[in-house]
Amino acid sequence: MKIVNDSTCSWINDLTPRTNIKCLQSNEDSEWLIIGAGYTGLSAARKLGQLYPNQKIILVDAQFAGEGASGRNSGYLVDTTLNDGFTSNKDLDNYKKKTDIYNLGINVVKKFINDYQVDCDWNECGKYFASSKKEDEKILRNFSDTLKKLGFTHNLLSNNELSKRLGTNFYNVALYTKGGVLLHPGKLVRAMIDVLPKNVCLYENSSLLSWSKTKDIISCKFKNGRIITKKIIFATNGFLKSLGIKSNYNFPITLTASMTRPLTDDEFKSIGQPKEWGVLPIRPMGATIRMTKDRRILIRNTAEVHNPFKMSESDLNKRSINQKIGIKKRFPQLPENIVKSSWSGVVSRTRNSSQIFEKIDNNIFAAGCYNGSGIGVGTLFGEQIAIKATEENSKEIKTIEARRKPTWLPPNPFLNFGVKGRLIYERFKARSDI
Ligand SMILES: Cc1cc2nc3c(=O)[nH]c(=O)nc-3n(C[C@H](O)[C@H](O)[C@H](O)COP(=O)(O)OP(=O)(O)OC[C@H]3O[C@@H](n4cnc5c(N)ncnc54)[C@H](O)[C@@H]3O)c2cc1C
Repeated sequence: MKIVNDSTCSWINDLTPRTNIKCLQSNEDSEWLIIGAGYTGLSAARKLGQLYPNQKIILVDAQFAGEGASGRNSGYLVDTTLNDGFTSNKDLDNYKKKTDIYNLGINVVKKFINDYQVDCDWNECGKYFASSKKEDEKILRNFSDTLKKLGFTHNLLSNNELSKRLGTNFYNVALYTKGGVLLHPGKLVRAMIDVLPKNVCLYENSSLLSWSKTKDIISCKFKNGRIITKKIIFATNGFLKSLGIKSNYNFPITLTASMTRPLTDDEFKSIGQPKEWGVLPIRPMGATIRMTKDRRILIRNTAEVHNPFKMSESDLNKRSINQKIGIKKRFPQLPENIVKSSWSGVVSRTRNSSQIFEKIDNNIFAAGCYNGSGIGVGTLFGEQIAIKATEENSKEIKTIEARRKPTWLPPNPFLNFGVKGRLIYERFKARSDI
């Protein structure tokens, strides 16, 4: 099935349109084939290109490179999370393993932007986990205990301080963590495309339709050609399941977000001229909301089981109305018509919010499923799955492989019923903070 994206994502539309787009038009052979050109696939291709400058590496994407979730996310490069799964992080040892991976993820993105002098509006301003409900302070105090034990600098804040920092009275309680970065996701992924090594051949608008392995030959079928490759890396994240990769361990979830135009000087003054900030919800289905460096407000407040290949304009409009209400609730003084664009994107989830990083058969590898936190982890997993595919090891691979592995999921229709039910329940619990 064809992936049909909206063309309304502000992050992507901030960038200069690319030229020289190549589509697969004939049969090819390669040493390496990578499917999916988001943070994961681009990082795998970059690493392989550095390791094997004389080998042929093909990277393909069903749409324009970087225009999947990697170009359409909220731009939080996180060191810690409170709500990234359907299970809570009660277990300290596992939570530490998770944050070790996040930490490696931040370092690998930082190294990338330093090595290639990338401007992606990088801001080490930390982040807030906030709620409008005073009683949620209990959740934050528990979270604070966990962070204290692991040495993360943080502090609890109440309404007065929050309204000064965020420019809204909406939130009554928050936990601020010093770690965590805000960035422009589109600029980051565009830089990864721009610096691809010369021996990486990128084909876009070239969807993998089917694949098979006979002995040591992997054969991949596309609309206008076939690629025969020795080794393959699947980096299609929300579309791993549709390609039959680890099907009983991951499922796609569709998210939608909206962004305003930049606030005018008067509008910005009316909310107290706050510095750039990012708020994450305390409950899984609450809104993620962010004030950007250039005074735009971004909101993401949906996560649902939806056809991952396409969202119709009318479906997107319905979600956009919800997001306008979310902004109005927090900033009643701002005009109604400031939302400039809305878009959808697909992520991948596992049951226990662990990620996929695996050799799934001889010469076949997969990385993905970041449960909504894939900027750093995707970049890290992309580089490290490339190393794993060369049959080498690294200290990063050891850290990644020490995590809990994804757990089994029931097949459809049971899975969809279960996930939908859970999302409705979580949405109800978070209703005040949507
Ligand atoms: C609205 C939204 C907000 C988010 N916010 C955050 C955030 O603040 N922080 C954070 O860390 N993460 C966030 N995420 C998640 C993050 O964007 C992803 O985890 C990350 O982009 C995953 O990168 P990836 O390269 O693995 O996958 P993707 O960027 O999804 O790339 C996979 C690529 O595979 C391609 N593909 C799929 N099927 C095929 C096929 N058959 N043939 C060829 N190519 C194919 C797709 O076209 C796509 O380009 C958010 C996601 C969304 C949608």
